[in-house]
Amino acid sequence: MESPLHAHIKKQALYWLKEKVVDLCASEVKLFVKRKKLKADAMGINIRKRESRIIEVKVSRSDFLRDNVLRTPYGYHDIADYAYIMTPKELIDPSEVPEGYGLLEIDEYDHVIVKKKPIRNPNPVVDLDILMKRTARAATNEVLFKELSKEQKDVTKGTFARNPKVHLVNATCPVCKKRRKYLIKAQGQEEVTCKGRGCKTNIPLNKARIHIVTSYNDRFYKELQELMEE
Ligand SMILES: [Zn+2]
Repeated sequence: MESPLHAHIKKQALYWLKEKVVDLCASEVKLFVKRKKLKADAMGINIRKRESRIIEVKVSRSDFLRDNVLRTPYGYHDIADYAYIMTPKELIDPSEVPEGYGLLEIDEYDHVIVKKKPIRNPNPVVDLDILMKRTARAATNEVLFKELSKEQKDVTKGTFARNPKVHLVNATCPVCKKRRKYLIKAQGQEEVTCKGRGCKTNIPLNKARIHIVTSYNDRFYKELQELMEE
């Protein structure tokens, strides 16, 4: 599991790249180099200059020392024009930084300083167009995933979802295009009526891109009923 600190610094790495007049940036960019799978923590691409930058985030010394990708051929430094390691303050000494890599340090207020400049790779082993494609794909997935996970977030954590009778779903109306929440039977219901003002379209559930937010069972109904009747 990724630590909150790693996730935080990875995000700051993206902000830093964006500031460097980068057109396209993304985290978790999947790469294939010499049949090996790699994942760049952060990648940024300047399209006009045709330059790529990779930032690898390290939040502990053991993580830094363990990472062979930094030291073997076809590491991040070989892939991009510039590669950096980004760490909290004073985690590693600039002299420990593998050849070619730059060192970025981030303080407790998210201020980034360049402790060591990277050396430009004159001949990246991965074509810029491929890096661009991979970065665009990661950025796109990130946007879509965020939307989807927000929509599917179950605040009840499935407390009443065992043997469900009713689902709470998101569904999109084909006419007014509004995406709303509807309660539907867990079994057998085929459509709902759009709640949009004056719309009243019948929405076929098999076509409305429904996502189940949570579900409710008999126990939920009984508990709710008891509380409502008090
Ligand atoms: Zn509608």
